[in-house]
Amino acid sequence: MKDCKNYRKNLENCNCTYEPCSKKGYCCECIAYHRARGELPACYFPDEFERTYDRSIQAFVKLFMSKNN
Ligand code: SF4
Repeated sequence: MKDCKNYRKNLENCNCTYEPCSKKGYCCECIAYHRARGELPACYFPDEFERTYDRSIQAFVKLFMSKNN
């Protein structure tokens, strides 16, 4: 296991269902990975949308706008 004092707590709050990911629980790696791709981490999305694995900022904005209009 990589060294992170927040690992267990991070996992408790992680809603990501993409099981093979080695970044799960390591939020700094997770956000850097998705940021570099113009995406957001799973925890920005509701569970039912998270499962689509579309983590694009465009998808987030579309979802956010549909919920607030
Ligand atoms: S959101 Fe992405 S990087 Fe983060 S744990 Fe899930 S699949 Fe991995």
